[in-house]
This record gives sequence, structure tokens and C-alpha cells, in this order.
Amino acid sequence: MSLSPAERYRALRRDIDAAARAVHRLPEEITLIAVSKTFPPEAIQGFYDAGVRDFGENYVQEWAEKQQRLPEDIVWHMIGDVQSNKTRQVAEHAAWVHTVSRAKIAERLAAQRPADLPPLNVCIEINISGEAQKHGIAPSDAAELAQRITDLPPLRLRGIMCVPSAAEESIVRAQMQAAQALYRDLQAQGFALDALSMGMSGDWRLALEYGTTHLRIGSALFGHRDYAIALP
Ligand SMILES: *Cc1c(COP(=O)(O)O)cnc(C)c1O
Repeated sequence: MSLSPAERYRALRRDIDAAARAVHRLPEEITLIAVSKTFPPEAIQGFYDAGVRDFGENYVQEWAEKQQRLPEDIVWHMIGDVQSNKTRQVAEHAAWVHTVSRAKIAERLAAQRPADLPPLNVCIEINISGEAQKHGIAPSDAAELAQRITDLPPLRLRGIMCVPSAAEESIVRAQMQAAQALYRDLQAQGFALDALSMGMSGDWRLALEYGTTHLRIGSALFGHRDYAIALP
């Protein structure tokens, strides 16, 4: 890709804003999270210099090393699975975690959140496709976990997150519709949710139709990922 980070970011943001308006959504209600897993601090700094502040990372160890070398006002979103022995880095350095699917992890994050920081923003990861290899909990278990998280003051429950299947459009639509229905159902049950974290490089346009508030976009900004760099 020959465009600069600033040009790529502005072009994508323009496309998102236009697509949002086309489905009667307000562009300012859509947060674009730049997913930087496998990319070095220099690449992240390039987007930071272009004005991006929200970045998403998947692997705690990789992120911890990069985070130390980057500006402190980055709003870090943990979007990968968090093991219980890796919660401290998330509690101390993330603004958001999108992937809570167990009460035990929520309790550790709450216990480890420094008292001088604002509450950690939390989304519950929902396994919306029902595929066994996918992370997240079943939709029917979401309300109980939402209550557990709501009862932990160092955490602020914001919404739900999902990764629909990379499948034909009708299947993706059905999964996104199910996620939106669950989100609205939890709101109707009294949970004050304002985040539906859904949509990646390949499906963000569809996600806008189904109420997404947080798009998590990696390759459309950073280019092709080489997992050999980051994976242990
Ligand atoms: C990697 C990743 C993304 C970004 O994926 P792209 O297809 O590169 O946009 C978004 N969400 C999650 C959970 C991811 O793991």
C-alpha cells in the first residue's frame, strides 16, 4: 500500500461516515478502533500521528511490550482472549476489554484495577455463531454475567462484543441481527449499555446496519498481517 497512514485512516473514516449516514446512523456514534496486533510500535505511532487514539490488541504479552514504547494517552482496547494469569496488564493499562466471558476474569480485573484510574470499560464476548472453536458465552448466559459485572464497581459494563462467522452474507446478517437483538434485550432488562462491538475489515458495512457502535478494523488500515511475528 502506497498511501500514508493518515491517508488510509482518513479514507476509511470517510467511507464509514458515508455508510453510516446511508443507514441513518450518526457518524459520531461510531468509534473506529485500529486493530494493531502483529504490527510494530512504529506503525502504531504512524496512525497516532494521524490522529487515531483508539487501538485494539489481542495478545497481552505482545501488547505490553509495545505499549511501553507508545504515548500514554492511547485508549487501549483489549480484544483478544484474556487468560487469568494475564489480567494485571489489562487492569492496569487498558481502557476497555471487549472479551470478558467468565465471572472469574471479571473479578480479577476488578481486584487489580488501580484505584486512581476510572472504571475499566467492559464488553461481554458473545459466541454469536455458536461454533465450538469460537470464544465467548452463549447469548442465554449473557444476562447473568452482565449482573455479576455490574456488581463490580471497578468495572463499567458497556455492552457486548461478537465476531460473526466469515460466511456468506445471509449468515453474517442473521448473526448480527441476533447480536443486536440480544443487545436490545439486555437494555430492556435494565442494563445501561451503549456499546455493540461488532464489525471488522470484511464486514463493517453490514455491522453498521445492525447497530454497531465500535468497529474493530485491522488489515483495512495496517495491511496484511504476518502472524509469525506476534504469536508465541
Ligand atoms: C484481528 C481482529 C480484528 C481485526 O480484523 P481485520 O479483519 O484485520 O479488520 C477485529 N476483532 C478481533 C477480535 C480480532 O481478533
